[in-house]
Amino acid sequence: MADVELQGKVRQLERKIDEYKELIARLEKTNREMEQRLKTAQAATEPPPAITAAPEFEETLKRLVQRISMILQAEKCVFMLLEPESGELVAKSPAYGLTEDELRTFRIRATQGVSGEVFREGNPIILYDAVSDPRTMRENVALLNVKNGVTVPLIVEKRDEENRVLDRQTIGVLHVFNKRYGNAFSDEDVRLLQVMSRSAAAVIANAQMYLQVVEEKEKLESALESLAAALIMVGLNGKVMQMNASARTVLGLDGQDVAGKPYAEVVKEEKVRQIIAAAVSNNNDEMAEVAFTVPSENTERIFRVQSSVFRNEEDKAIGAVIIFNDITEIRNIERLKTAFVSTVSHELRTPLTSIKGFISTLLQDTEGYYDEETRHEFYTIIDQECDRLTRLISDLLNVSRIEAGRALDLNLKTVNMAALIEKVATVQRSYTSKHTLSVKLSPALPPITADEDKVDQILTNLVSNAIKYSPNGGTITVLGVEDGDEGVKISIIDQGMGIPKEQLGKVFERFHRVDNTDTRKVGGTGIGLYLVKHLVEAHGGRIWVESEVGKGSNFTFVLPPEPPEEEE
Ligand code: ADP
Repeated sequence: MADVELQGKVRQLERKIDEYKELIARLEKTNREMEQRLKTAQAATEPPPAITAAPEFEETLKRLVQRISMILQAEKCVFMLLEPESGELVAKSPAYGLTEDELRTFRIRATQGVSGEVFREGNPIILYDAVSDPRTMRENVALLNVKNGVTVPLIVEKRDEENRVLDRQTIGVLHVFNKRYGNAFSDEDVRLLQVMSRSAAAVIANAQMYLQVVEEKEKLESALESLAAALIMVGLNGKVMQMNASARTVLGLDGQDVAGKPYAEVVKEEKVRQIIAAAVSNNNDEMAEVAFTVPSENTERIFRVQSSVFRNEEDKAIGAVIIFNDITEIRNIERLKTAFVSTVSHELRTPLTSIKGFISTLLQDTEGYYDEETRHEFYTIIDQECDRLTRLISDLLNVSRIEAGRALDLNLKTVNMAALIEKVATVQRSYTSKHTLSVKLSPALPPITADEDKVDQILTNLVSNAIKYSPNGGTITVLGVEDGDEGVKISIIDQGMGIPKEQLGKVFERFHRVDNTDTRKVGGTGIGLYLVKHLVEAHGGRIWVESEVGKGSNFTFVLPPEPPEEEE
């Protein structure tokens, strides 16, 4: 019995051994498979190659999502990134197994659904049955036809040289959906996905950083490009790194691509070349004032040029930036102001001298040498000269009001233009015997709402200019007609010296005087027309001039029926 029993036991044992052998063989096979998958997974997690352009990031990520899908035998793989402005997790391209439309619509609040939970908690989730799982978002499950899946967080880690984690930031989540052949995802899959998500996160973080840098660079370049000041950046090798639009215009290089070319080849202006040479070779910050002709305008302009060496992080000079500020206008104004001070002093002294002269004469006349009529004439002159002084001082005050950006306050009422023009003409006739002052008004000249004193000032200025700048006399005509919609159009026409064509646009600028032997004989400050223009514009009107040298000038202004409402 023992033999039979023993043989039975042995056979049993042999069978068991066979079973175990089979099991071991199966285990070994699984193990080999696992190893193979791990190897492939590790290959996928190798550090991404050095990346130099945005499309390469895209390519790397594309390979990554493909490989992840392959290794995990998943139908779909997609990563979602947090969009800080909207607080949403947004699906990003490239994905695997999703259409462009599906990608576009796949976004979710960072607090909702499985994506939100994984993002917040930082722990992976396996979905065994996406349709019935209460954590999933119905629409997205339906939209993407999700049956099951694994979601892991995308974490970017910053490490020091000893590989210690310095900083850890969750930037989004990585999903894989629908295990092929009807299988479910396992814990093993989660481990694999976690390993691979690290390199995906690193690539994405690199891409984001790269794009940020590119964006910053572009922003900086376009800011420099649109700078009003001309700017040139030259490397120590003498090649142009950047030259903005203003600089190209100033140097007559419009429409040329000069980046990368030696500055000595592109910059023709000798003075500018010298400045660049000094900046690049001396490594010294310098400032200079240069004047040269700008080709597009064919006029000489004055620039304040500042050069400054820029350095890298190790404080090594890498190039020089040269900035040109156009100070022509500043210099012009300075010149005009100096001239203005001397003309104003002259203009103030003239009436004062005359007032003082007549008063002294009257004071010394203790014996009544001058008769009543002559004395009256003296008083009239003193009165007129006082008016002249008052006018000049109030003009000066008004200029400073305008300069300070304050509006000229209007004291509005209904003004009978015909009467006002006649009054101004009468006053002005009393100042001249050489000129005929003729007033021609249309009978329908309407009244307007305006500041009477200021309109008086406009008319007085224009008529007295017409007299002043017609030293040989002649007829001065004041024409007044209605100008559409009940406004008025007034022209003051003289037969005087006229204004050279190139100065026509400038006579309304402050302190501007046409400078020639004729005008020098006539006193003036160059602020009359500047004020007139502001006064007309304060009423919502316009003023312009037509003139021909030697023939005369025609100053015309229009005033609307009433000034426009002032903006608050
Ligand atoms: P001012 O007469 O005090 O110099 P304005 O501002 O009134 O200043 O005029 C500016 C310049 O315009 C004058 O210096 C003169 O050269 C020119 N101008 C003004 N009115 C006339 C005119 N009617 N005819 C010729 N030139 C004129």
